[in-house]
Amino acid sequence: ETIRIHTESKSYDVLIGEGASKEIGPFLTKHFPDLTKIFIITDETVASLHLEKLLVSLKGWNPVVFTAPVGEKAKTFEVYYEALSRALENRLDRKSLVLSFGGGAVGDLSGFVAASFMRGIPFIQVPTTILAHDSAVGGKVAINHPLGKNMIGAFYQPEAVLYDLTFLKSLPKQEIRSGFAEVIKHALIYDQAFYDWLQMNIDNLDSLTMEQLSYSIIKGIKIKKEFVAKDERETGVRAYLNFGHTLGHAIEAEMGYGNFTHGEAVMIGMVFALKLSIGMLGLSFDLNKFIEWIERLGFETNLPPDLSLERLHTRMSQDKKSFGSSIRFVLLESVGKPKMQEISGDVLVDKLKSFCL
Ligand code: NAD
Ligand code: ZN
Repeated sequence: ETIRIHTESKSYDVLIGEGASKEIGPFLTKHFPDLTKIFIITDETVASLHLEKLLVSLKGWNPVVFTAPVGEKAKTFEVYYEALSRALENRLDRKSLVLSFGGGAVGDLSGFVAASFMRGIPFIQVPTTILAHDSAVGGKVAINHPLGKNMIGAFYQPEAVLYDLTFLKSLPKQEIRSGFAEVIKHALIYDQAFYDWLQMNIDNLDSLTMEQLSYSIIKGIKIKKEFVAKDERETGVRAYLNFGHTLGHAIEAEMGYGNFTHGEAVMIGMVFALKLSIGMLGLSFDLNKFIEWIERLGFETNLPPDLSLERLHTRMSQDKKSFGSSIRFVLLESVGKPKMQEISGDVLVDKLKSFCL
């Protein structure tokens, strides 16, 4: 299946299916007849599991491969610098192309390399995680600063996304959960019917069928597409995609990346945001049923013990979506109807305290 993404700066296709990566060769031949070099950016795990298969589809191009460390360690200044050095040493030029091969971390790094190398060269995404149904679409690319996640980045759309679902078969449980959290997020902020479908059909993340996986990912991408089409640069509705992320990012940062996956942290953030929505906006929602369901799926639903609430609060106020002393949260008026809500620091600390009970 092909989903066309439209943004103000560019339109491009997301090709999804088992074997989609085999389309790379024909795609490049058609769209990049003058291509000088392919620069693959991947990570150690994805390289050892799947790189050979990808290289088969790139026979004849003789790509340069840059292998980053796994997870958030890929998104550091040092790794970014190394990647650019490798690109220069190998004489990439403006007719070269960056190919991102991995999950969201690799995608964010690759995209930022592509956006900044020689003021921008084309890039394509070959995602290998479920989470990447979110991160590979929409053109937000970034690396981290020690003071904050994703603080250095750009809006830079890929030329195409080739989403080969066969790569997902090697994902560990934690990464499946991480990706599914964003699928559930997409349902909650946009589509009651899809949310009901998920709750009816997804009961065990260890035994997902290819049909369930592909349906969930395609739905998720179509929802993300709507927000990105209306607001590429996140001046308005796109911010709704941050549902669960204000607290989620703070948890991730406080726990140290690696203990919690992105999606697992965001899920706790969503439970918190749902509670706030019920209390502050009168959202009618069966929270207990939700919590039972996601706990069955293996998610944590509460803050990890011994996290300092003060520090979480400080982290949240450093979030780049916040202004001044109050913190902006995405809440829900109903499933499918998000709303921005400013919450003052004092109120928030109280709410966090009662969240822990
Ligand atoms: P990731 O790239 O760190 O992948 C997660 C882990 O899974 C890594 O250890 C990786 O090596 C491993 N992995 C990847 N593919 C695999 C496969 N097929 N089989 C086995 N293991 C595999 O990150 P992620 O979880 O995909 O994404 C998280 C990152 O995405 C975060 O840095 C987050 O900030 C970013 N993100 C960006 C956006 C955006 O719009 N740009 C949106 C959401 C998240
Ligand atoms: Zn996210």
